[in-house]
Amino acid sequence: MKVAIKEVLSEATFKLREVTDIPQKEAMLLLCEVLQKEMSWLVRHDNDEVEIEERFFSFIERRASHEPLEYILSRANFYGKEFFVDKRVLIPRPETELLVDKVFELAQCMENSHIVEIGCGSGIISIMLALGLPNAKITAVDISIDALHVARINAEKFGVKEKINFVLGSYLGNIESKIDMIISNPPYIANAEVLGIGLSYEPSLALYGGIRGDEMLRHIIDLYVDKKVKILACEMGYDQKESISKYAYQKNLEASFYKDLAGLDRGFWIKEKI
Ligand code: GLN
Repeated sequence: MKVAIKEVLSEATFKLREVTDIPQKEAMLLLCEVLQKEMSWLVRHDNDEVEIEERFFSFIERRASHEPLEYILSRANFYGKEFFVDKRVLIPRPETELLVDKVFELAQCMENSHIVEIGCGSGIISIMLALGLPNAKITAVDISIDALHVARINAEKFGVKEKINFVLGSYLGNIESKIDMIISNPPYIANAEVLGIGLSYEPSLALYGGIRGDEMLRHIIDLYVDKKVKILACEMGYDQKESISKYAYQKNLEASFYKDLAGLDRGFWIKEKI
């Protein structure tokens, strides 16, 4: 049965009204996906009557149950690029772009460096580094084979599969070669924290960092010291500045911090003392 586009959209918008602040836009995005049309086409053809595939209604049901749009569309934007994502990986957050920027800044003084990312997830950070630092050697480690599968799909998509060495393992895996820089956006949320319903669709392995939340960050600082790495840069929780700063100080290190666009403390970096 054919139905007018505007009627389909108004019904879908109504179903999404409590899930998102932009129900109409999301309904349109999902319809564009099913019809394989651009948003501008949809706007110009809202009186057209079209056959709507069942897939559209299932998309709306999923979104109405708070499943993130990115998982339904199997894609997410990060640093101006479109990455493949599904429920095996965390959805890229805009604030993580700042970590990539920080690494670009810190890597300026290094030539042919070996950069290791701990917990690469969908691969967004390592892939952006492979694209932006052509002379760097990059190793991306993750404990989840499922996440590595997604990261490889993305590396292939952006033509950097040969440039990144993907390793299945915990923290630094069994990397023997010298490491110049460690990067990580590890799980850093405290186990007891109750997350919003949308976050329950994301892998908890990628979110929860331990009783305090910063346990993995602290262990990464230990590894940075033990392996005599030159630079460390990590994303962290908005309330972890004091604890990270103290921990670094105990290890005779000085951590510097950056804020995200909301003005919250969001990450730190440590450089070897020269
Ligand atoms: N910033 C993410 C969030 O708040 C958490 C990411 C992480 O734990 N690394 O949902």
